Amino acid sequence: KVEARKFFVGGNWKCNGTVSQTAELISMLNQSTLSTETEVVVCPSQVHVQKVTEGLRGDVSVGAQDVWTQGNGAFTGETSADMLTDMGVSWTLVGHSERRGKGESDAEVAAKAKYALDKGLKVIACCGEPLESREAGTTNDFVFPQIKAYADVFTKEDWKNVVIAYEPIWAIGTGLTATPEQAQETHADIRQYLGEIAGSDVAADTRILYGGSASGATAPGLSAKEDIDGFLVGGASLKPEFADIVNCQG
Ligand code: PGA
Repeated sequence: KVEARKFFVGGNWKCNGTVSQTAELISMLNQSTLSTETEVVVCPSQVHVQKVTEGLRGDVSVGAQDVWTQGNGAFTGETSADMLTDMGVSWTLVGHSERRGKGESDAEVAAKAKYALDKGLKVIACCGEPLESREAGTTNDFVFPQIKAYADVFTKEDWKNVVIAYEPIWAIGTGLTATPEQAQETHADIRQYLGEIAGSDVAADTRILYGGSASGATAPGLSAKEDIDGFLVGGASLKPEFADIVNCQG
């Protein structure tokens, strides 16, 4: 494994949890043994963020699941980067397929990521193809433009605060994990492409996470692959199994 790329595991709690369930998740994490070799970030719902930043152990960071593209103002229903950093949030997801599905273009996702970076948030930049692309053998044709949109707006400095999450849409929440070989092939392709458009240093240093039904059972095999630098975890991040994924490198 490449030393510059510290193993990274993010938990995406999605639209889940009551106040008391959130408290239970916090105490589950606070009681877990988590490898210091892994950078860990959890992304609660926006309404539970403050509870998590206040209650969670200091060695686990808090992220948002999305962020507004501009500052404070007359933007009903949005949450600004300033609000998030003020509450102790240090990361945000952008471009999750469950948000792209609502009509966010590659360029809009990238612009949002750039705004968040400029405001001091670090970014988990998501990408991933639908089943049709995977079956047609055109995964890269779908994923590369998503990567290109990020690279068009990120500076080399920005990339130091970015991790990429490759999440095949057909694997998200379906129990169908990509095989280690499938994921490795796409991760290597993304890294090579990143080298072409953003520079070999960016390609070598940027962590590329796998997401899509990652579990305690599948994480060891996936993480053994050269270009898989961690995971973005949905369903399993709500269970004690999350610690197994954090610790999967043994
Ligand atoms: P999943 O979700 O692990 O439940 O498939 C992953 C994600 O959407 O980030």
